[in-house]
Amino acid sequence: MARMTHAPMIARTLPALRRACAELGRRNATIGLVPTMGALHDGHISLVRLARRRARKVVVSIFVNPTQFAAHEDLGSYPRTWKADIAKLAAEGVDLVWHPDAKTMYPEGFATRVAPEGAALAGLEDRFRPHFFGGVATVVTKLFTQVRPDLAFFGEKDYQQLKVVTRMAHDLDLGVRVIGGAIVRERDGLAMSSRNVYLSPEERRTAPVLFRTLKTVSKRLRAGDDMAAALAAGAEMISTAGFALDYLEARHAETLAPVSSMNEGPVRLLVAAKIGATRLIDNIRA
Ligand code: AMP
Repeated sequence: MARMTHAPMIARTLPALRRACAELGRRNATIGLVPTMGALHDGHISLVRLARRRARKVVVSIFVNPTQFAAHEDLGSYPRTWKADIAKLAAEGVDLVWHPDAKTMYPEGFATRVAPEGAALAGLEDRFRPHFFGGVATVVTKLFTQVRPDLAFFGEKDYQQLKVVTRMAHDLDLGVRVIGGAIVRERDGLAMSSRNVYLSPEERRTAPVLFRTLKTVSKRLRAGDDMAAALAAGAEMISTAGFALDYLEARHAETLAPVSSMNEGPVRLLVAAKIGATRLIDNIRA
């Protein structure tokens, strides 16, 4: 039998959001929030399903947040697939979609920014995207105070972001429990991403090298190989495939502090690299 779908409520203004959230929160129903920038794929949908299992009511936000993009980045061309997104969310039984425009989120005169430290200054994404975590922390703080969810779901795909947001929710007493979801991959191992649509067919064929390299490095580390040597060999694999490597690093899985051996673990391997004009990130447990 075809699955029953029910169009979610859609709120585009703060008063509409207030009314919808009051309705959802009646009888103390737990509310789960899945923040996204739209262009939804199965990675997003896995977070929605996790939210469905853990919370009575599920809110998905769709907001392409301008403050986390630098001037040279892809804000203008970021994929927008509203109709398909809503159809997917309806099929998952999502209760409410929060879809503010930039003026609603950042009205004239907006002048406040949340500046995360700790994991946000680990020297990974922050080194290449210095705007990024301030933009993320500010918008996520706003999403949390607007929606007031009990639980919020973020993907391990953006591993450093997951750590930053988890810490921030604690530090600012936002009353939200942050829950991480596993990375969803294409059949050939490429981590799903809204940005994968930018890849040319040839780049798309090369892209799984990132995940293959992470697995190779992880295997070597677990076999007791020297960490610096395993990472250097991994970096070579990625560059040889045609990527411009930003970083391939082993870090403590919780603090993101640098580690020099598996004994300092649990260890997470994290990579970011550009292929053509497209920047891809990925990570695995070592
Ligand atoms: P984005 O729309 O790219 O900002 O992503 C919204 C949320 O989905 C973030 O918490 C991401 O970490 C998560 N996400 C993106 N891609 C994946 C994936 N392949 N697997 C799991 N989660 C993902």
